[in-house]
Order: sequence, then structure tokens, then C-alpha cells
Amino acid sequence: MKDTFIHQGLRTKLMKTLQKKGIVNSEVLAAINKIPRHLFMDSSFLAHAYVDKAFPIAADQTISQPYTVARQTELLEVSKGATVLEIGTGSGYQTAVLLEMGVQVYSIERQNELFKITKRFLPKLGYRPKKLIFGDGYKGLPEAAPYDGIIVTAGAPFVPNPLLAQLKVGAKLVIPVGDTVQIMTVFTRTSPTNFEKEEFGEFRFVPLLEDKN
Ligand code: SAH
Repeated sequence: MKDTFIHQGLRTKLMKTLQKKGIVNSEVLAAINKIPRHLFMDSSFLAHAYVDKAFPIAADQTISQPYTVARQTELLEVSKGATVLEIGTGSGYQTAVLLEMGVQVYSIERQNELFKITKRFLPKLGYRPKKLIFGDGYKGLPEAAPYDGIIVTAGAPFVPNPLLAQLKVGAKLVIPVGDTVQIMTVFTRTSPTNFEKEEFGEFRFVPLLEDKN
């Protein structure tokens, strides 16, 4: 597992690309500049690790495009010390971005193969989430709720009510909603019974699946 000055150079370029595309949160940019994304991907994709694209990982899933990760993280509006629930651990890259920012992360993955790979992999890089869970993200994780933010990294056909219910007042749910194309949607819990909804353009994700098989 090597991280060299060549990788660092490519990361700095990627960071500048993201800035040009409109990412302004300096903590998000610093995290991306620091995390060895090439180590989260199959070695055959090494040459592509620092272009702004999504790539295949195990179990027919993808590591999200860096811009998407950056944008979703920015929209969460969390900082050091916050507690966040992530749905769709996947490669663990998004998890690492949040951890690098000093956020406490709970993350749920429904593909057992990926769950096991990522659970073993993250600590090797020094990343220690509060908990990685093998399970169904539609239900959220009531045991550690309420959260300062919830981020869904797969395309949701609808907005799961348990996720809204597990937000603190003032916290945001960042969720791509739609079937083939998703609209990045942010729900802010403005009071125990009220949510404000905002939309931030089109994205494409692998689907948030409803059953275990
Ligand atoms: N955050 C990841 C993105 C992975 S793609 C990364 O940075 O690499 C989305 C992930 O969501 C996939 O790993 C997929 O298996 C997972 N997923 C799909 N449906 C899910 C569900 N109902 N609950 C939890 N995870 C789910």
C-alpha cells in the first residue's frame, strides 16, 4: 500500500479541478487532498484514481465520483465533532473524507462482501469509524440517533421516513432521489415536525436497494 509524491501531485490537481467545479469548503478540499483514493480502488484502475470519475469496485458497486463526494459532503454542512450516519459504505472513501474532517461516522452497507472488505481496509489507513454496519440503510440506525447529518450515497427511489426521523433539529439529510437519474436533495429539519427541502441538480448513482438479495 504505497502513497507517493506522484499520487500527492495528482491529488492536488484533482483538488484544483474540484475547486473549479465550484467546491468551496476548505475542510472538504483538504480531506480530498490528503486521502489516497487509489488505495480504495482495484489496482487495475490506478491510473484513473485521480480523475474526476466514478469507478467500479467489488460487488458491482462504484466508488463515487470525487466531485459527487465533495458536493454531498459540503451540502451536509458538518464540521469536527459532529456525528454523521452514512448509508452505502461501499469502498469507504466517503467515510474517510468525513473521518478526515474530524466527524464521527456510522455507516451501513448492504453488500456483505463489500462490508467485509471495507471493514478490514479502513483501519489499515488509520481510519476508525464509530461503527460499520452490515444491514439495510432504509431503516437508518436508531440506536445512535439523532444525527448531526445523514448522507445517502446510493440513488433512492423515495425518501425513507426513518432517515428523516433520525435527524437532530437543524441537521440535514443529503439524499439523491430518483430512479435512473437522481436529484440531489437536502432536507433540513427546522423543528421536530418540520422539514425544509432544497434541490441541487442531477447526479447518477447505483440504486439504493430495498431487499437483501
Ligand atoms: N460511499 C461509497 C459509494 C458506494 S456506491 C463510496 O464512497 O465508495 C453505493 C453503495 O450503497 C454500494 O456499496 C451499495 O451496495 C450500497 N447500498 C445500496 N443499497 C443499500 C441499502 N439499502 N443499505 C445500505 N447500503 C446500500
